Amino acid sequence: MRRCTRNGCRDHARLTLTFNYSTSVIWIDRLLDEREPSSYELCETHWSRFNAPNGWRLEDRRRVEVLPFVHRLAG
Ligand SMILES: [Zn+2]
Repeated sequence: MRRCTRNGCRDHARLTLTFNYSTSVIWIDRLLDEREPSSYELCETHWSRFNAPNGWRLEDRRRVEVLPFVHRLAG
């Protein structure tokens, strides 16, 4: 288990935020196996308080993993 990257926070990180500066998109992923130097790992408390900076869009990629299952049900 890794800790939240916010200063002074001792909670466990629950998800990974990756800032893509070329497209102004912030990816939300389940906690990656390896810590990426350019990403932030937040606990649930800090994630619930997180707001995207002006001009940035949040893209939740956690749902993407569910899609193949949905397609199987539909087919
Ligand atoms: Zn935290």
